Amino acid sequence: MVKRLKLYNSLTSRKEEFVPHNHENIRMYVCGPTIYSNPHLGNARSTVVYDLLYRLLKENYPKVTYVRNITDIDDKINAAAIERKISIQELTSEVREEFNSDMIELCNLQPDIEPSALDNIVDIIKLIELLVARKHAYVSNGHVYFSVKSYENYGKLSGRKIEDMLQGVRIDVAEDKESPEDFVLWKPAKETDDDSSKFNSPWGLGRPGWHIECSLMSTKYLGKDFDIHGGGADLKFPHHENEIAQSCAAFPDSKYAKYWVHNGFLTVNGEKMSKSLGNFITVKELLQQGVKGRCLRLILLSTHYRKPLDYNFKILEESRKIITRYDRILDDYEALNIAEHKLPDEFLLPLLDDLNISKSLAYLHDLSKEIYNDNAIEKIKDFKKIYNFLGLEKKVKEEIPLDILTLAKEIQTARAAKDYAKADEIRAKITALNYNINYTKSGEIEVEKK
Ligand code: AMP
Ligand code: ZN
Repeated sequence: MVKRLKLYNSLTSRKEEFVPHNHENIRMYVCGPTIYSNPHLGNARSTVVYDLLYRLLKENYPKVTYVRNITDIDDKINAAAIERKISIQELTSEVREEFNSDMIELCNLQPDIEPSALDNIVDIIKLIELLVARKHAYVSNGHVYFSVKSYENYGKLSGRKIEDMLQGVRIDVAEDKESPEDFVLWKPAKETDDDSSKFNSPWGLGRPGWHIECSLMSTKYLGKDFDIHGGGADLKFPHHENEIAQSCAAFPDSKYAKYWVHNGFLTVNGEKMSKSLGNFITVKELLQQGVKGRCLRLILLSTHYRKPLDYNFKILEESRKIITRYDRILDDYEALNIAEHKLPDEFLLPLLDDLNISKSLAYLHDLSKEIYNDNAIEKIKDFKKIYNFLGLEKKVKEEIPLDILTLAKEIQTARAAKDYAKADEIRAKITALNYNINYTKSGEIEVEKK
């Protein structure tokens, strides 16, 4: 039976009961990364948040179609490709692979469809042509602009009126725009751009704007009306507002996405983690430092998705301790079959309430303590089921090679002799060989693959 899900809808600024267009197939679109360099932890937060929502929807409905796009046409991509003297295709296929491998390390499920702008350029051009034909867009000097005034509901998502948007803002009124608030659907190529980033169109060589890429990819793969649209809070305006305007103007009988979900920022000292501020740390760097993807995942999961989440060393340590403790509980129950076991309501119901993860994780924590006191198999099954549902389960155990185990033994001997300098030296050797050493409370040593 479908249990009722409530989601905070940015379109109405209220928590609403989720009523999909079709219970048989839930359709969700999420704005994915712009792939000019490796993802940072802030980008990863967005991916993990929607992965949790995807898992929850899959738990509750027979089918979910999750589309997360790849932005592989963009000015930042052009600049990075020029700098590295490679084509945008070479650059983006390399970064895309890095992105996917990082997201797998963070235990995210792969979306059902991962379309990219490069693969959809012909249809993007067709959508722009439709907007021009419907007089919602105009051609000017090699550009195509969306005419904001032609769409009367503009501003519904962000609550901004055109006048407010223009007030106090220094606007570069491009000579070829009819009105300063109009935004670009198609841009002419610059001479300095690499040929790989120039596409033929009825308006000359150029490239599409970012907003129209998402309008096309969402409606092409999910239909004109779909259920959920997600992305970081920074995308609400202008990106999502413009997506709505374009899509509803192109398809006047549609309302585009029904529920708009926005995740809060991952911050560092209270500031949004971003490439432009230079306060970012990439997922790859953290993994290379030996941090487990599952520890990062727990950090990214454990604050409510709409709240800011400040990243610091303390929460990393806490997360590491929790994962180590939970893993240890489950080590004894590797063979326990939970295929038919259902998620307990104490965990599921808070999640269905706009992903109230704190309550759900508190339940998991309580369970972990109860299991120690009372070995009730049903509780252990609950615990394991939840852990797997959250994507926190240990990956298949790897055999530790003998030479590493021998080194680990040497650490034990050195520590027993209180020769901590030697123990540290051997530990560094092991780390360099891509294994981690953990000391348990009882003084034993655990070795694991990084
Ligand atoms: P980008 O690669 O900048 O287009 O971002 C990809 C996704 O990550 C978008 O949904 C952004 O809103 C989201 N995002 C970027 N920075 C952060 C951050 N610091 N915290 C949370 N989400 C972010
Ligand atoms: Zn988008």
